[in-house]
Amino acid sequence: MALIVQKFGGTSVGSIERIRNVAWRVAKWQAAGHRVVVVPSAMSGETNRLLTLAAGLQEHPDPRELDVVAATGEQVTVGLLAMALLALGVKARSYTGWQVKVLTDSAHTQARIISIDEVNLRQDLENGCVAVVAGFQGVDMDGNITTLGRGGSDTSAVALAAALGADECQIYTDVDGVYTTDPRIVPEARRLKSISFEEMIELASAGSRVLQIRSVEFAGKYKVPTRVLSSLTDPKIPVEEEARSGTLITFEEDPHMAMEKAVVSGVAAQRDEAKVTVHGVPDKPGIAYSILGPIADAGINVDVIVQNVSHDGTTDLSFTLGRADLKRAMKMLNDQVKPAIKCKEITGDDHMAKVSIVGLGMRSHAGIAAQMFRTLAEEGINIQMISTSEIKISVVIDEKYAELAVRVLHKAFELEQG
Ligand code: ADP
Ligand code: ASP
Ligand code: MG
Repeated sequence: MALIVQKFGGTSVGSIERIRNVAWRVAKWQAAGHRVVVVPSAMSGETNRLLTLAAGLQEHPDPRELDVVAATGEQVTVGLLAMALLALGVKARSYTGWQVKVLTDSAHTQARIISIDEVNLRQDLENGCVAVVAGFQGVDMDGNITTLGRGGSDTSAVALAAALGADECQIYTDVDGVYTTDPRIVPEARRLKSISFEEMIELASAGSRVLQIRSVEFAGKYKVPTRVLSSLTDPKIPVEEEARSGTLITFEEDPHMAMEKAVVSGVAAQRDEAKVTVHGVPDKPGIAYSILGPIADAGINVDVIVQNVSHDGTTDLSFTLGRADLKRAMKMLNDQVKPAIKCKEITGDDHMAKVSIVGLGMRSHAGIAAQMFRTLAEEGINIQMISTSEIKISVVIDEKYAELAVRVLHKAFELEQG
C-alpha cells in the first residue's frame, strides 16, 4: 500500500465531465489499496480570468488583494472534486491552503513554501478518506492568503509529497509525459521514459512549462519520486499500467544509461523576454552593481547578463528580464541609475526569446555549442546573447524566430530518433 500525491492541472479539471474523470481515476487508485492526496489546479482559463478582473480595477493590483482573488480558482475545484468523489461513494474532504496549513513567506504572487502541517491530512488518510488540497496557495505568518506563482500547483503537490513522505508524486497533465521539446510546437517530439533531475531543472528554468521550476527544486531537495503523466487517457486503465506510464524524474545517474544517452536531451524556449542595454558605461569597478543592484532591490529578476569589451574606457552592459518588468526597469534606470553613473543611453527591446538546449551528455562532448550556432546561422537567426552552464546552452534571439529555432535544433540534434 503506497501513499501517493496526485496533482491535476487546469485542463484536467477544465469541466464537470473532466472533474468526474479525475474522481474516477482517484477512486481507482484508492480501490487498489493506496492512500491518496489530490491537488487540483483551478479550471483552465480561470486564473487568467481572475487576474484580468483585478487588472480592470488597478493598473498594478495590490498584491495582497490579488492573491485573495487568484486563490479562489483552486477553492472551487477542491470543493467540486470532493463532491465528485463523494458521489462515487469515496470518502473525501477538501482543504484550502490555509486550512491545511501551507505556511509560506509573504512574497505575494510569488510566495515560497516554508512548512506544511500535514497532521489533519494524515488523519484523513488513516480513516480511508481522500484529502483534496488546493494547489497554488498558502498563508503567511500573519494569516494573509498567498499564491505561489503561475504553475504553482506543481510545487504544492511536490511539497505535500515531501511533507507526507509520499511514495510518489504524480503530476497529471494534458500531455503524457516530458518530451524532448514542447510537442505542441514540434509534433515529432519524443516522450522521455525518464529524465534526470538535473536535466529537468534546466529544462524548467529554460521555459519548458510542463513543471514549475520550484516543484523540481523541491523534488530534488527531498528526493521525491515524481512522475509526469496524462490525465486524458481512459480513467479506467489498470493501475499497474498507469503506474508505469509517463516520465519519471530520476535522481541517481546510471553510468550505463549516461553513456548511451543522447548528448542533448531536450530543447526549450522562453518567450515574453525583454532585453535592456546600458550604452557607454564608464568601465570601472562597481558599475555592474550600480546598474543591477537597484533592479534586484525592485524585485525584478534578471536572467542573461553580458558585458562587452571596453573601448575608450566605456563599455555596454546588456541583460534580459521578463517582458512584464521592462517598463518599470526602464523608468528606474532612466530616473535613478543614468544620472548616477553617467552612461550614454539606455535602450529596451521587448521582443526577445531565449532558446536552450539541455543534456547531461554535454559534459563529455565538445563542439555542441558550435553545432547549435551553425544550425541557427543556417536559418539566418541572429544570436544576440549567449549563456552556458555545464549541461545547458542558451541563446537570446528575436522572438519571431523562437519556434523556428526550436524546430531546427530539435532536428539538428536528432531528438526525434531516440
Ligand atoms: P497543467 O495545466 O496540467 O499544469 P501546463 O500547461 O502547465 O499544464 O503544462 C503542460 C504543457 O507543457 C503541455 O501542454 C505542453 O504544451 C507544455 N510543454 C512545454 N515543454 C514541454 C515538454 N518538454 N514536454 C511536455 N510538455 C511540454
Ligand atoms: N491556477 C494556477 C495558474 O494558472 C496554478 C496552476 O495551474 O498550477 O497558474
Ligand atoms: Mg502547469
